Amino acid sequence: MAKVKRVYTFGDRKAEGNAGMKNLLGGKGANLAEMNLTGVPVPPGFTITTDVCTEYNELGADKTFDLLKEEVVAAIKNIERIMGSEFGSRDNPCLLSVRSGARVSMPGMMDTVLNLGMNDDAVVGLAKKTENERFAWDSYRRFVQMYGDVVMDLKPQSKEDVDPFEEIIETLKEERDIESDTELTVEDLKLLVERFKAAVKERTNLDFPTDPWEQLWGAIGAVFNSWMNKRAIYYRQINNIPEEWGTAVNVQAWVFGNMGDNSATGVAFTRDAATGENIFNGEYLINAQGEDVVAGVRTPQQITKEGALRWAKLAGVSEEERISRYPSLEEKMPEVYMGLFTIQKKLEDHYGDMQDLEFTIQDGKLWLLQTRNGKRTGAAMVKIAIDLLKEGKIDEKTALLRLEPNKLDELLHPVFDKKALDKAVVVGKGLPASPGAATGRIVFFADEARKYPESILVRIETSPEDLEGMNIARGILTARGGMTSHAAVVARGMGKCCVSGAGNISINYKTRTMNAGDKVFNEGDWISLNGTTGEVYESKIDTIDPQMGGDFGEIMDLAEKYTRMDVRTNADTPKDARAARNFGAKGIGLCRTEHMFFEGDRIKAMREMILAENETDRRNALDKLLPYQREDFEGILEAMHGYGVTIRLLDPPLHEFVPHEDENQMEMAEEMGISIEEVKRKVDSLHEFNPMLGHRGCRLGNTYPEITEMQARAIIEAACNLKKKGIDAKPEIMVPLIGTVEEFNMQEQIIRDVAEEVFKEKNISVDYLVGTMIEIPRAALTADKVAETAEFFSFGTNDLTQMTFGYSRDDAGKFLPVYIQKGILKDDPFQILDQEGVGQLVRLGTERGRAARKDLKVGICGEHGGEPNSVEFCHSVGMDYVSCSPFRVPIARLAAAQANIR
Ligand code: ADP
Ligand code: MG
Ligand code: MG
Repeated sequence: MAKVKRVYTFGDRKAEGNAGMKNLLGGKGANLAEMNLTGVPVPPGFTITTDVCTEYNELGADKTFDLLKEEVVAAIKNIERIMGSEFGSRDNPCLLSVRSGARVSMPGMMDTVLNLGMNDDAVVGLAKKTENERFAWDSYRRFVQMYGDVVMDLKPQSKEDVDPFEEIIETLKEERDIESDTELTVEDLKLLVERFKAAVKERTNLDFPTDPWEQLWGAIGAVFNSWMNKRAIYYRQINNIPEEWGTAVNVQAWVFGNMGDNSATGVAFTRDAATGENIFNGEYLINAQGEDVVAGVRTPQQITKEGALRWAKLAGVSEEERISRYPSLEEKMPEVYMGLFTIQKKLEDHYGDMQDLEFTIQDGKLWLLQTRNGKRTGAAMVKIAIDLLKEGKIDEKTALLRLEPNKLDELLHPVFDKKALDKAVVVGKGLPASPGAATGRIVFFADEARKYPESILVRIETSPEDLEGMNIARGILTARGGMTSHAAVVARGMGKCCVSGAGNISINYKTRTMNAGDKVFNEGDWISLNGTTGEVYESKIDTIDPQMGGDFGEIMDLAEKYTRMDVRTNADTPKDARAARNFGAKGIGLCRTEHMFFEGDRIKAMREMILAENETDRRNALDKLLPYQREDFEGILEAMHGYGVTIRLLDPPLHEFVPHEDENQMEMAEEMGISIEEVKRKVDSLHEFNPMLGHRGCRLGNTYPEITEMQARAIIEAACNLKKKGIDAKPEIMVPLIGTVEEFNMQEQIIRDVAEEVFKEKNISVDYLVGTMIEIPRAALTADKVAETAEFFSFGTNDLTQMTFGYSRDDAGKFLPVYIQKGILKDDPFQILDQEGVGQLVRLGTERGRAARKDLKVGICGEHGGEPNSVEFCHSVGMDYVSCSPFRVPIARLAAAQANIR
């Protein structure tokens, strides 16, 4: 058996690894190797592979360290050779950093130990070598503090507790009657080291290790352990990072940024991470160690002069003060700055992407400690990709693949004005259910949304009747419900800002008040919501429209060029259809007709139809609905002229349309001239134990064919009327919820008969298709039979998921979160298509359908149609289109193009 290589060395422009080895070496390790190969100065070191992390979790520390020992000892020798110093030596000590680093960056989630190798001998050697005793003891103090915390676990015991080390420092400062750490003398620092060690001994009953090798193994173990700490586990969960990946450990020669005024440390970005502008920028501190920059104890200075001038203006610092107290690196150390500038350019060119760098300057010499593709906002992501393309650094396909489809979402919603947001007061927090910013006055009832020109609908939870009000309101806040609650799903569909399940908020509909913590809000009071973070603010905050500049358009044009699949939209109104068309939708994949029955007088006619005793009464009521429906269809077909519009026949169980409250039942009784008891009896008779599996979908049209007749007539008449006006309407009539081909055929026959009738009456004909939704497993399994008559399939993956898993969508909130937390399910299958199970039905349904009908049009119209992974899957199955809510159209278009490139 070949020997497993567990350790990869780097240093002095040589490296055993490279940037392509992220899986094995982690992002940090792979890039440290690559920087060496590119000729960038990096302190020498080595990387222990991510595979060893897995071994460590299986075999435990002792066995793993035995396997590692030989290679680690050799790698340390390599560091000593390059640095010309000695690990654990008294005269010429070499210190190390021991750093975590997974495949993808998990900022701040795992542990790192710095200044390792310090002990009573090394501190003397370091003081002598640098002629700086204070610096040596400060490094020692830092090391004991960090090692004590990370490896020996001397942490605050509860969240109210202060850090035990900070407490010791504070006590000493009080004893000395000083304010700042910098006033501590060498003797004070020595005392701190002593007291730190004593505290460790007292709490853990262990001596602080003085042997550098013992320190090293302790730190390596701690970094591996930190892969399984709470923070890291949670971070992996929300970012879908598998536990099997593991972290690598990077051990590296230590370089000192705190060796005096000719030393410094900082972070830099090759472009602006917020705006994407091509401006080198960053922050640094003189005479400090890397962690000081992020810790925020001292005000960091700007790297470039331009940045420093900008900063001073914002901070209200005079030019005189800026130059004396906050000079830029460019001004303070011009030569080092030039070196850094050259390196950042070299690294960005090398990686072809914006880089985020860590560097340290030791006594005038520059060292790079990390480079990675920088995190950025959605706007910066788009701008940087387009700019790099124009600069000729990447090609079109790479530019597209660079983009994270979901991040486009940030660009599609209004945003708060940053300055106004800084002053705002947070009063509550819920789930970031639908991104964007909203500000308005509180209304508690959907039908009162128009009361103010800008309103925020505040509800315990929402229901389908609230739809119109939700559409009018600027934003939606609910006290209950999760990310897939009615409010959340509908708001995302509308592209409307929504915060759901805000736990600290209680709502009293009677008094029309909302309590948030100890504050009380009345109807008409201003509040603001941030749907991207879930924060709720008191009072008004100004918003600005998103800048949909030219870069965004260019990205969409590129996507168009490289895509095979079309993207359609789910839209029930002409307004939504037009919005989606602006975003590049090519048709409607799902137009639901049930929403059309709620507005104004329609609901009355609808209820009359439902409560009718016999076919004649039912037909009478349907006749009243026909003109409304026809008008709606004309609107939507016109808005999508030239493109296919898939219209689904009535789908939900009828009881969703009837009144359940006394007051409305009374009104209904009067309207129909019958007694309230009669109404109650009929409403009760519609009750079902399992409405989702009950009398709904095509079962309605097959038991009451006159409903289908009316809807088919409304659609075909609308198309004919438009054609007479020269408008190209392309209706595709979709029968929902079939399980057998007979269920479909009966509906198809009705539709075709009606169409023929209308053509004769109007003396004109239009092209139309009749197809079906595939959402019951049996329909997918018998797709070859169904496709003999059906002209298109649209996979309704919401219901298909529900029925394949047997999870009721309306009740899954009780167990799905637990399942995901316990790892029984990886993701919520209602959000990310389950390719392994449900996906089989989709693939098989498509294949069998196309075997019977070669040109069968196939698409998807569930929530999944706008989810990038699911879009990629749909592409691989060979679908003609995906369909999603208007505001996700750009995301789906990008995902579809990426799928085609990959
Ligand atoms: P994180 O990934 O949490 O940022 P790092 O591994 O990057 O942790 O290390 C924390 C800080 O210590 C960074 O500022 C880094 O630049 C600095 N640092 C790490 N290794 C060294 C080293 N060998 N010499 C000097 N500074 C270092
Ligand atoms: Mg770092
Ligand atoms: Mg359905």
